Amino acid sequence: MRLFVSTRNKENAVFSKEAIISGLAKDGGLYTPIELNDIRIDLDKCLDLNYQELATYILSNILDDFTEKEIKACVINGYTDTFKTDDVILVTNIGNDFLLELYHGPTSAFKDVALTILPHLLSTAYKTHDKNKKIYILTATSGDTGKAALEAFKDVKNIYITVFYPQDGVSEIQERQMNTTRGNNVDVVSVAGNFDDCQRLVKTIYEDGEINETYRNVQLSSANSINIGRLMPQVVYYFKAYIALVKNEVIKLNDKVNFIVPTGNFGDILAGYIAKTIGCPINRLVCASNRNNVLVDFINTGIYDINRKFYTTMSPSMDILVSSNLERLLFMLSDCDDKRIKRYMDDLNANGRYEIDKKMLKKLQRSFVGVYVKESECKEAIHRAFHKDNRLIDPHTAIAYQASNKYTDGHKNIILATASPFKFSNSVLSSITGLAVRSEISAMNRLAQISKEEIPANLKDIDKLEILHNKTIKIEEGRDYVMERIKALND
Ligand SMILES: *Cc1c(COP(=O)(O)O)cnc(C)c1O
Repeated sequence: MRLFVSTRNKENAVFSKEAIISGLAKDGGLYTPIELNDIRIDLDKCLDLNYQELATYILSNILDDFTEKEIKACVINGYTDTFKTDDVILVTNIGNDFLLELYHGPTSAFKDVALTILPHLLSTAYKTHDKNKKIYILTATSGDTGKAALEAFKDVKNIYITVFYPQDGVSEIQERQMNTTRGNNVDVVSVAGNFDDCQRLVKTIYEDGEINETYRNVQLSSANSINIGRLMPQVVYYFKAYIALVKNEVIKLNDKVNFIVPTGNFGDILAGYIAKTIGCPINRLVCASNRNNVLVDFINTGIYDINRKFYTTMSPSMDILVSSNLERLLFMLSDCDDKRIKRYMDDLNANGRYEIDKKMLKKLQRSFVGVYVKESECKEAIHRAFHKDNRLIDPHTAIAYQASNKYTDGHKNIILATASPFKFSNSVLSSITGLAVRSEISAMNRLAQISKEEIPANLKDIDKLEILHNKTIKIEEGRDYVMERIKALND
């Protein structure tokens, strides 16, 4: 069976069920599958599979300590009647390129694709594990993971969840979505800090040996893309989108394509790299960054340096400087050199910086390209998509759309559309019309009028829902806050 090993110490090796339950390895590293090259997804076979069948085929190859029957049940439970489209995703045209629409799920963000199935994977894994423990999921969010995770886990038996979001770092609608979530096992807290602070808080708690030793009735887990149960379901849509272009006779089977990915924590684009590794014909993965362009600089120079200003932008879900999943890519590119990865991560912690060697950089550049998109270009892109291509796109998608305009190499570009434009109504409206309106809700209605598109059901009456969560804490208070919850769960 396939091992998932910690990026910082290969000795810490588990099968996928345990990796999904624990989220992060105890040494702070990220569980990463090894020997993925052994998997060859048969594209011919994929041609006639619907989304559920394709997901079952791919996931049972990667998460191979689940039986195929178990995976199938998770897939059916996760992807039946949860998305507006039967096939979960849509591939549509935008100018000469293609949009991979990933936002038709329950919270209108691409995170739904993984988070609708994660609770089922987790519950299934848990059945074969230590059933007496309560699972406590800590989640840091830059806006979209939070709501998608809350919706996915609310009222799930034996699982409890706390979401931390940056106080001034999410859109008004994202905040409302989270703070109106019902369910007796959910908890939402805003933190006076940015996303990196929230993520650091959560990671520190995982690494806290004392907590793990003392509170034995509680198992900590994660709904962030540091959990492979979040990451792996995202591999599926790369294949699905590829097959869609083959079926529409845009490309021939085995022709290569590029995927343009608006990137924050590097989870989505890493899923693309895993797809490439197991047989999806991908030429380049284009990492599109907003003003927090630490990844683009890294892809160009091999130097990862977070000693720079943090900006809040129109695309808040990408306002991140420490992109967790990059650690997994480096591990894969270095042929599992855990000592080296540990050194890089220690450097990052101590000095906010590390530099990879030339050989590794070359290897990275064979698969990845970085494109930086400015705020003004993001606005122009939304404007252009609407007026020229007749498409309404959100600011994150717009970053990728603009990057796609800047990057052409003769292969077809598939742009990942990661959120509904209605989630960021005022930014989208003002980019299109030049005018912002009073509230996000009136912006949403105005946007529906001018685009003649329907507001997604989950957002439509969001102003009428009762606010159920309104806690704010300082970063320093985070650990105590979590400790109290853990103690209560442990009793
Ligand atoms: C989370 C998110 C991203 C970034 O995805 P990563 O996997 O963190 O790189 C991009 N766009 C939207 C709308 C998101 O919610």
